[in-house]
Amino acid sequence: MRFDSTLVHTGGGPDRLTGAVNPPVYLTSTFQQEAPNENRGFVYSRSGNPTRAALESALAELEGGRRGLAFASGLGALTTLLEDLPSGSRIVAGDDLYGGTWRLFDHHRRQFGLRVEYVDPTSPAAFAAALDAGPTTLVYLETPTNPLLKLIDLRAVIRLAKARRVRVAVDNTFATPYLQRPLELGADVVLHSTTKYLGGHSDLIGGALVVADARWGDRLAWLQNAVGAVPGPVDCFLVLRGVRTLGVRMRAHDRNGRAVAAALARSRRVRRVYYPGLPSHPQHALARRQMAGFGGMVSVDLPGGARAARRFLKALRLFTLAESLGGVESLAEHPASMTHASVPAAERAARGVGDGLVRLSCGIEDARDLVADVERGLRAV
Ligand SMILES: *Cc1c(COP(=O)(O)O)cnc(C)c1O
Repeated sequence: MRFDSTLVHTGGGPDRLTGAVNPPVYLTSTFQQEAPNENRGFVYSRSGNPTRAALESALAELEGGRRGLAFASGLGALTTLLEDLPSGSRIVAGDDLYGGTWRLFDHHRRQFGLRVEYVDPTSPAAFAAALDAGPTTLVYLETPTNPLLKLIDLRAVIRLAKARRVRVAVDNTFATPYLQRPLELGADVVLHSTTKYLGGHSDLIGGALVVADARWGDRLAWLQNAVGAVPGPVDCFLVLRGVRTLGVRMRAHDRNGRAVAAALARSRRVRRVYYPGLPSHPQHALARRQMAGFGGMVSVDLPGGARAARRFLKALRLFTLAESLGGVESLAEHPASMTHASVPAAERAARGVGDGLVRLSCGIEDARDLVADVERGLRAV
């Protein structure tokens, strides 16, 4: 099957008991046992639930992994992954990360002595140097990055980590398995905020881990149950329903991302547009090689700092001012004061997340309406 067909049919197929074409939503906390420890595969919904199992098998198939694990949020997935790191661990990560990921790493640094080395995500040489500077437990990658849409050369960085027997985790939330599949390039685990493109309708919070190795998958499944950051069956159902249309949605997000980025790049009221699909993007060639498209995330730097960003955002009518991304409706936000406010100002500035930066999540509306909306925003700046 091609990927679009897999999206529609993954997750176990029609219900064996009734033939229902969608997985039933098993709203139950516990399961009857025939005799103590004699059961039909399910015992208690923290350790497993059939609706969640349908989603988890779909996630594993889409990313090409051995084990899919669903969580109550992306950060719940990350927390569970961090629980597996021995104390005194060292992470090497790209320096342009989701704000909540940065915050959780920093909490683990203060509380448990986790060491995190941040490097220029665009430079495999910087990853090599950081890997050689001390024993490393995990390489943690996000590509395209948030909010600056930089790319990590996954093939190159994974090769460097493998040569040093270091595990690699990739947050694939922005790209989705439709655009890139890190496990096929040798990564060990993929993380998702299913809140975003996989769910796709801004109606739930969820997360996932997909693990390449079955034994590590078993270990993380054990932690999933031990930590308990699991999603309810309704949210699992909704994520799986979102997965069905991931292909058609991603093509629309990609079309609209390209149109909005091009319109912004044409304007003289813009300092810089960040979009891997623009030929002017410094890693455009890598994006073409590594991804099956460029997606719907576009960031724009406006001259005039926070005031200009504010005026732009207030003038938008179709883009809703809200955190999050990846839904069918277009959203806009101000990273410096919203999603990345937990990153200290000096750190933010050093990484190029200025006060004039606006991040756009292009939805699946008509591209012409979105272009007209950002042009309206620019006239207000
Ligand atoms: C939103 C997001 C997360 C966190 O996921 P939640 O579902 O909000 O907990 C992690 N990584 C990226 C790239 C995200 O966009």
